[in-house]
Amino acid sequence: MVEAINRLEPGGFSRYQDYLESAQNNLDFGLSAFIKESPQWEYFPAFCRNLNLNARFWPLASHHRQLEGLFDSKKLQAALSFQDLYVGLTPYEAPAVFSLLQAIELNQGVFYPLGGFAQVSRELLRLVEANGVCCLFDSSVAEILVESASTGLRTRGVRLQNHHVIPADLVVSNVDLPYTNKYLFSRLHAQSKDHDTRGFSSSVISFLWAFDRPLPSLRHHTTFLAAREEEVEAEGGRKEGGRSGAKEGIDPAKAAWEAVFKDKRFDGRFLNFYVHAPARTDTSVCPPGHDAVMVLVPCPVLGKEGGGQEEEEEEARMIADAREAVLARFESVMGMEDVRDGLIHERVIGPREWREKYSLSRGAVFGLKHDLGQLSVLRPGRKHVGGGKGLGEGGKEEGREGGGAIEGMYYCGASSRPGNGVPLVMVGAKLLSDMILQECFPE
Ligand SMILES: Cc1cc2nc3c(=O)[nH]c(=O)nc-3n(C[C@H](O)[C@H](O)[C@H](O)COP(=O)(O)OP(=O)(O)OC[C@H]3O[C@@H](n4cnc5c(N)ncnc54)[C@H](O)[C@@H]3O)c2cc1C
Repeated sequence: MVEAINRLEPGGFSRYQDYLESAQNNLDFGLSAFIKESPQWEYFPAFCRNLNLNARFWPLASHHRQLEGLFDSKKLQAALSFQDLYVGLTPYEAPAVFSLLQAIELNQGVFYPLGGFAQVSRELLRLVEANGVCCLFDSSVAEILVESASTGLRTRGVRLQNHHVIPADLVVSNVDLPYTNKYLFSRLHAQSKDHDTRGFSSSVISFLWAFDRPLPSLRHHTTFLAAREEEVEAEGGRKEGGRSGAKEGIDPAKAAWEAVFKDKRFDGRFLNFYVHAPARTDTSVCPPGHDAVMVLVPCPVLGKEGGGQEEEEEEARMIADAREAVLARFESVMGMEDVRDGLIHERVIGPREWREKYSLSRGAVFGLKHDLGQLSVLRPGRKHVGGGKGLGEGGKEEGREGGGAIEGMYYCGASSRPGNGVPLVMVGAKLLSDMILQECFPE
């Protein structure tokens, strides 16, 4: 690491260490105070050092500005901020406190569950069943049932797509919160504000590729960051054609982010993407002599109305552009000249499938974004709070007063508090179960 960083920027490693120290301070205090909601004050003094207004590490400054102040190398700036994607922000708008993501990845490391991610779900299932929980599969909820009691509104259970009704005193929706509020209540109790007016993270195109040969130049995790062709060429890569941007004065790193979050106009010329090649760690993912690769390409979320032929055509265009750009990058930068010949199976998941199959509002795979207005206590909470006005024909708020708080209605998952990502969702689920137990059994 010392050598790699100093090669990019002489003397850069000591500033990298300072940066990671401040990132760890953000993580230590931020995790306990804002994520687990139980501040560990022993971390506060170190966090306060970051709070010194004159210092380089003021946590509410722009993350990009902070990195620009520390490093001249555009590569280092980009490599130390692409993780902002996970919280649905660009480094230009993300507060520097999100350097806590780099502290997780670079100080602690990333865990990979042997057997693939489904192994985590299988283990959770085994645990909950061993504790007496009955799980139903392929049983989509069509509606959360609400009744008027003398004390106000309260949940009565759920109705499944197959019309079967499951009575319940208490309902926890793990389905994306904005989707739940807009689509899983009757029109009288539905609310559209979370779905229609809040800020969303990004969507992604996932390519699941099988190869009839190993791709040795890929590591378990490889991140490709947008760069000018001249820079790629200078480092031994081959020109792909049409990706310079120098003449138009485009900064490829910024263009890659803005195409996803700001302009919402996908541009295959400037892409950041992540490649997961788990066979380096886990031989169970493919037969010997083969390779299994997941490519994650960030792309804009879908419109709030959604549907229609235009949307379908736009998605097909994005997928074709992304596919070509990724394969061209493999060929030019990684020297994988024969990569297309080796591709024997492909499955692609795009924004429309994320929305339709997994009920993710607008296809936003990281839920609501984590900007300052949707962070911590400003993020939707775990309990239904009401305030909606019921929806009329076409899903528009109707102005009827149908929307009081619904007793017994709770939420967990990426768009509720504390936020997105498996660890945060698990923390939120634990906090929710503690809250419900406290409310139901106060003694
Ligand atoms: C390609 C990709 C890679 C990712 N990689 C990582 C990673 O490496 N690490 C990480 O921490 N996070 C990662 N994430 C993010 C992570 O997957 C999410 O943050 C997390 O799964 C959110 O959990 P959740 O419980 O809110 O939602 P989900 O995991 O989406 O669970 C919600 C469940 O509700 C079900 N459902 C939907 N509608 C209904 C209905 N009407 N009735 C009944 N059930 C319904 C869905 O099928 C789904 O199973 C990744 C996401 C993507 C898309």
